[in-house]
Amino acid sequence: MVVVMRRDATAAEVDAVVERVETAGGEAFVSRGVQRTIIGLVGDVTHFASLNLKAMPGVGDVHRVSKPYKLVSRENHPTSSVVEVGGVPIGPGTFTLIAGPCAVETPEQTLEAARMAQSAGATLLRGGAYKPRTSPYAFQGLGARGLDILADVRAETGMPVVTEVTDAADVALVAEKADMLQVGTRNMQNFALLQAVGSAGRPVMLKRGMTATYDEWLMAAEYVAQRGNLDIVLCERGIRTFETGTRNTLDVSAVPVLQALSHLPVVVDPSHSGGRRDLVVPLTRAAIAVGADAVIVDVHPDPTAALCDGPQALFGDDLDALAAACRDLPPVVGRRLVTR
Ligand code: PEP
Ligand code: MN
Repeated sequence: MVVVMRRDATAAEVDAVVERVETAGGEAFVSRGVQRTIIGLVGDVTHFASLNLKAMPGVGDVHRVSKPYKLVSRENHPTSSVVEVGGVPIGPGTFTLIAGPCAVETPEQTLEAARMAQSAGATLLRGGAYKPRTSPYAFQGLGARGLDILADVRAETGMPVVTEVTDAADVALVAEKADMLQVGTRNMQNFALLQAVGSAGRPVMLKRGMTATYDEWLMAAEYVAQRGNLDIVLCERGIRTFETGTRNTLDVSAVPVLQALSHLPVVVDPSHSGGRRDLVVPLTRAAIAVGADAVIVDVHPDPTAALCDGPQALFGDDLDALAAACRDLPPVVGRRLVTR
């Protein structure tokens, strides 16, 4: 069961609902989003029905949600959410370009990649400081030093930063330095990490596990929401299939299906999907056409020297093609590119 508070509900009114539920032996999880506060109830639903929560001051509505995911379901929250990252919106009516290097390598490489991203129309900077690598011998990222580089590049360019956190123990530090916390495909069901990012007070980008179903992905988002954070965007980054011609298979259906099941924005990662530079712009076009709220794209000033994912990084003239797609196509589907 879910209690949707009115937009003008006070903190005391929220507390009163929580207290009534807890006194009745239930648990109440308060989630604050940009647009409203929602309280998810865990316990005996028939008993909750007798508490007359709907009549309490500040309460807008009380729903019984039939989906296993409640806070993130559209059933409970019919209007699409806008998630703001350092003032940059991701959501309906707009299209947001997020771009930057796969990994933060040096201050110069990161700043140059950010400038390339900006030249293509990006308003958010991506870049990994903590890299979850398949091989323990591969570059693991610069860690805390990488976060400082990202913060310096944000100061220089004005671009808010999206960066991955791979360990619950690092969440506080990453939340202090970055504007949005990314949970990667390999951690989509790391429940302790999901709960930690849910409590961190920063928007979260939740990438789809490479073999995760829509329901599993939404249940992972529910872990984040249940800890009090509704500022979540879902990122389709390609799934494992039998095909070996691409790194992963971009599931374009995920975008409209997830937007129907959930009020959360859906982002596409055309770089990790195809794993090939020549596919990034075509897959970006597909993402825009199918209604994605944003794309997140790898760029690198010198992909041949990249320490991570060089073959999928855009550079040079590729940026012009990316810029043209992100400028010209969103209006065809009723959106406009977010600019600063
Ligand atoms: C990334 O975005 O750098 C990344 C590691 O992506 P994924 O988790 O989708 O593989
Ligand atoms: Mn990568």
